[in-house]
Order: sequence, then structure tokens, then C-alpha cells
Amino acid sequence: MDNTIITRFPPSPTGSLHLGGARTAIFNWLYARHMNGRFVLRIEDTDLQRSTQESVDAIFEAMEWLGIDWDEGPYFQSKRFDIYKEHIDRLVADGSAYYCTCTPEQVDRMREEAKKSGGKPKYDGSCREKNLQWEAGAVVRFKAPLTGSTVIEDKIRGNIAFANTELDDFIIARSDGSPMYNLAVVVDDITMNINFIIRGDDHISNTPKQILLYQALGEKIPDFGHVPMVLGHDKSRLSKRHGAMAVTAYRDMGYHPDAMVNFLVRLGWSHGDQEFFTRNELIEKFNLDHIGRSAGVFNPEKLLALNAEHIRNASSESLVPHLMPFLEAKGIKTEPGEFLNGVIETLKPRSKTFIEMADGAVFYFQEKPVYDEKAAAKFLKPDLTGPIKQLADGIAGLAVFDEKNLEDIFKQVMADAGLGFGKVAQPVRVALTGKTVSPGIFEMILALGKEKVISRLYDAVQWMEKALGTE
Ligand code: GLU
Repeated sequence: MDNTIITRFPPSPTGSLHLGGARTAIFNWLYARHMNGRFVLRIEDTDLQRSTQESVDAIFEAMEWLGIDWDEGPYFQSKRFDIYKEHIDRLVADGSAYYCTCTPEQVDRMREEAKKSGGKPKYDGSCREKNLQWEAGAVVRFKAPLTGSTVIEDKIRGNIAFANTELDDFIIARSDGSPMYNLAVVVDDITMNINFIIRGDDHISNTPKQILLYQALGEKIPDFGHVPMVLGHDKSRLSKRHGAMAVTAYRDMGYHPDAMVNFLVRLGWSHGDQEFFTRNELIEKFNLDHIGRSAGVFNPEKLLALNAEHIRNASSESLVPHLMPFLEAKGIKTEPGEFLNGVIETLKPRSKTFIEMADGAVFYFQEKPVYDEKAAAKFLKPDLTGPIKQLADGIAGLAVFDEKNLEDIFKQVMADAGLGFGKVAQPVRVALTGKTVSPGIFEMILALGKEKVISRLYDAVQWMEKALGTE
């Protein structure tokens, strides 16, 4: 028998991909990748009122950004009504389901009655044994067992039993013939050979109904694992109040997709006390053994810290496509290549997000740095004209522009002027970047490049001379 694990992600396109949905997608994707299985994408768009193409596109966009690729699909439920109809007819034909002509008002009354006599509000089975034929307005109900129990052998939570008396004869097809949610999901999962379903525990109440449908259709029940919902810091279910919910909002705030994936997986899964995982490490280590039974709590500071770590650990070249849109937003036109890689290399250790990185990169691309007024007044003092000029001349004369030679020139200038390192380095920093804070002086100088460094130093000398003239 083929034991390939086949998982799926079936979002409803009624909005953007939210953090909780993304986590479900990632769990299924990782499990498939870890098990050398397959991952199927299915768009559950049977609710034609609420489903939009815009949401479908937003979901694709978010998955692409997260780097979650699928092996099959996307399937669209809205294009599969024939398949559902076939299965509904089959269930009616073999007596597992029946037509019901009770009006919604009648059903409401039955519910009220049931409640009054202390039971759960449910349909009373009026049409169950009537053997009705189809007629306009009829719905199809599933003939749920009246005794016994249905057990979910949950791979995460252990066995969960439901008394069948709790379930009523739920509708599987509306009067217009369209399938209800549980029927469509089961038919899809069967026909797509899905054998492993990881989803939020908000779906637990659907699962016994789905298991009954598998049994009625004579199909093998897939493995289920229900994961606890993600909570906000106040332990209520994660919502807008706790921060942005759409995955792509984090892209726009300058997050690295690997950090996002890492963070979302850790909301519910653990591997010892390890926090930082590369994508490959997750694929290698992810399994269901360490999905907790208690809910993960969304902690934006932790996400930010992880983001900084992912940025720090990535190769500069790999960060280029992530940073580029933020540079463009600042009107910086540049191309991938050595210069940009060098710039990123100096900013990596000091950027928590790509927005910070882009902010920090601005001075590298300016025609001339814009001096911070206070910094210039404090550090670009006329008595430094000589040392800065000497430094510029020294760098101009360098055959090899490297850290060792730079250091030697600095030492020479410091010795000749009788100044300590900081007294020279800080004015140089202001001259080159306009600010008092920047990446390490030598790495910054090397990344900026010889020509820009020399011209910026001479500009500073001129500025200082002019300042002297106006004093
Ligand atoms: N379409 C459902 C949702 O968006 C998921 C159904 C399932 O996982 O079975 O919540």
C-alpha cells in the first residue's frame, strides 16, 4: 500500500490569510514535507456570497511570500458541484440520507420544543422514515445514528468521544442542491486522497459529523489532529485588538518570511527550548509529538526578536529581494550586486526589520550625506580640518582599499594630531553618514567605497573651512 502522507490546506476566501490560518497551512505543509508526503491546496469557496477573487489572490500572495508551496491544486469547491451531487445522490439512494420537506419555521419549533424538554435544540427526525422523493424546497439530511458514540482518535489530543444522540440529522444539501460545508469537505478529502488533517480545534464539532459521512460512504477515515487556537496576550482568542492579523501586513512592516514561519510554528509546537529555526531545520524536526495541548500566545516582541535574528543570520545576498521594496519606497534606485550586498552586510546586525534596514541604508545612496545639525556642530570642528584632510589624502593614495590599510592610516592621523580614536572616528562618521550612529566605522567605510569616502571627507573639510570663515 502507498503510505504517502497527503495533507491539505483548505482556506475559505472570505478575507486575507490570517495568522491562525497561516499557522494551520504551515503545520500541514511542514508535516507533508517532513514525511516526504504531498500538500494540497483547496479553496473552499462554496459560500458564493462571501467568497471573492480578491481574497483568493490575497491567499496565494501570502502563501507565496511565506514560501509555502503546494504539490496539487488549487482546487476550487465552486467547480466541483457535480462531484458533491453524485455523492449526495449516492447517500440518498443507499438510505444513509433522506429528503426533508420541513420548513425552516417547523424546524425552529422542533428546536424550541427540544430545548423546553431540557435537550439540545435539534431536528426531531420527522421526515427520517418517510422515504420522500425529491420535491422543490426539499433539503437532504444525513441519517445520523441514534445510539452509540463517535470517537475522534485525535493525533494531538487523544480520543474524543461524542454521543451520537448529541448529533441531529444534519443537512448535507440545501434545497437548491448545493452541498453543505461538512459534505463538501468530506467528499473533497476523499477524492483528493487526503489522509492527514491538521486544523484548528474550532473544527472539532464538525469532525464527528465528517467521520459519520466517511463511514456512510464506506471510506477510510483520515487521521485528525486538532491544534489549539492562537491566543492574544490577555488569553482571549487572537483578534485585531492584539495586532495586525493579515500575514502580508507583516511583510509590509518589514518582516522576513522565515521569521514569520518560525514564529507561527512556535505558536503551538516546540523542540526543547529552541526558539530559532531555519526553514530546513523545521522540515527536519517538525512532527506532531510536540504540538502542545494548550494554546500558543501571540507575542509581538518575540516575533520582532526572531526577525532580527533571521535577518542577522541570512546571507546578505538573500536579503536583497526583501529589502528592495523598502528602498524603492524611499526613492532609492539601486540594483542587486556587490555594492548592495556590502551595504546590507553592515546593516544586518543592527536591523530588527527591513524598514529599519532601509532607514539605515539611506546615507549610502545619497549624493551627499545630509548632516544632522547638532552632530555637525559638535563634531565637524575647524581644528579637525587638518586630520580629516590627511585621512582623505591617505585613503586616496591607497593601492589596496582594505581594513588593514585603513587602520594604518587612522593610526597615523591619530598619532600626528595627538588624538584618540574616538576623536577622529566620530567626526569621520558624521562626515560620511551625516549622523553620529552608523555601522562600525571601518566596515562602513569599506562598504561605502573609496570614491564616495574621499569625496565626502573633502566635502566635510570644505564645510569646516566655511564654518570657520563665518565664525
Ligand atoms: N475552510 C475551513 C476554514 O477556512 C477549513 C476546513 C477544514 O480544515 O476542514 O476554516
